[in-house]
Amino acid sequence: MKAYDVSQSEKTWDVSQSEKTWKDECGVFAIWNHPDSAKLTYLGLYAQQHRGQESCGIVTLHQKQHIIHKGLGLVGDVFNDKNLSLLTGSAAIGHVRYSTTGQNLIGNAQPLTSNLLNGPVAVAHNGNIVNQSILREALQREGSIFQGTNDTEILLHLMARNPSNDLLTAFTESAEQLVGAYSFVVMSEDRILAARDPLGFRPLVLGQLVSDLGMSYVIASESCAFDLIGAEYVREIEPGEILEISKSGLKTKKMNIDQSLYSQKQAPCVFEHVYFSRPDSNVFGMSVYESRKKFGEQLAIESGVDADLVIPIPDSGIAAALGFSQKSGIPFEFGIIRNHYVGRTFIQPAQAIRDFGVRVKLNAQANVLKGKKVIVIDDSLVRGTTSQKIILLLKQAGATEVHMRIASPPTIGPCYYGVDTPEKSQLIASHQSIDEIKNFIGADSLSYLSLEGMFKALSRSPKTFCSACFSGEYPTSLKGVVKKEKTEITV
Ligand code: SF4
Repeated sequence: MKAYDVSQSEKTWDVSQSEKTWKDECGVFAIWNHPDSAKLTYLGLYAQQHRGQESCGIVTLHQKQHIIHKGLGLVGDVFNDKNLSLLTGSAAIGHVRYSTTGQNLIGNAQPLTSNLLNGPVAVAHNGNIVNQSILREALQREGSIFQGTNDTEILLHLMARNPSNDLLTAFTESAEQLVGAYSFVVMSEDRILAARDPLGFRPLVLGQLVSDLGMSYVIASESCAFDLIGAEYVREIEPGEILEISKSGLKTKKMNIDQSLYSQKQAPCVFEHVYFSRPDSNVFGMSVYESRKKFGEQLAIESGVDADLVIPIPDSGIAAALGFSQKSGIPFEFGIIRNHYVGRTFIQPAQAIRDFGVRVKLNAQANVLKGKKVIVIDDSLVRGTTSQKIILLLKQAGATEVHMRIASPPTIGPCYYGVDTPEKSQLIASHQSIDEIKNFIGADSLSYLSLEGMFKALSRSPKTFCSACFSGEYPTSLKGVVKKEKTEITV
């Protein structure tokens, strides 16, 4: 099994770290009643690889037993024909992980599995439990021994201690003790559960397809997973809903919610539409591609400027740049070309090349840019160091003016709901004015999409989303929150 190098030795550069400091969180997948459950789960994870690249795993259900394979690395590296053929059974759950809590260790790779009193249980989780330190300490004081450092294990311990013999009851009563973000898929010896936290931070969708065994049900973080396996999108799992899938069909249940812990009735993550989700996914009932285009249109209304071209920072700025271009009437061009074939790490040249980390991935096209005033669109701006390098590349390629436009509001706070963000002190907009940031990145002008403009573009009210990293208003109690253990790396 191949494990990639995340150690940042002197001789390698981590491309992904150099490009963006927002990191995707995790993706989950589940399938019930299909003869090729492992292979379809593999494909479902493959489609959701953007949500986590550190580890992945699949657990299948065969004759009331769980068969497991997981490892560090990408889906295509961890799984092959041989190990997939050993994952027999007509039900499966899978996971791709980026470690927002807990280190990148094989012990933290998911799905997590355990043998409880009433049989085997496997769990895959997207999100972050805010009150995890409180629950973990209480469980440890009562004798629980944790195998890893991730928050998901807490659910298994709570379920193990629950007196009910019924899985649905044990899961429900355990989940009701968690505060924060969770989209879970759970598999026992005879059913799959899919659940979303009461505010619905992370997406989770239900689909169906017909197989030789009859109707198969599928669950995924994003609908793009259904497209790859030919499944039909049915609906979202509702915030606070637990869906049980078994040989009796579908059964749905609502959790009991302690509203005093929450300042909103729902809080799906608006950043899924800004950056995280694939543009071809339908998330929270809306097309991500359409949302991003509308962010660009609104940005053009709010901060238009005289220019010759609109160019995106690929790939995350493309849809917003298209929207900006169409609204403003300024032509869209690819002034920056992205090299899609760069691996995660590569050998550093013996002689240092200025801004090498950005140049290896993004190249400015002089034939498009020379003598032109350009508007460059990115989805977000975190530390400003990458934007600074890109603007320098554009000017070196002959752009006479570079106007930076950001298709989201200034990011002023970290996320505690399952997205790996730098500490507040490293978020440039938390301590510098827009004019100071403009000077730091070397742009001729800089504007962000306003918070009001973002919700206007979505045609939704702010109280129907989480936008805490932009507004500083966190929709849950933050008691017990744990900061990420991993050291942030800036290239
Ligand atoms: S804080 Fe930001 S990234 Fe985190 S859930 Fe809220 S909107 Fe999403």
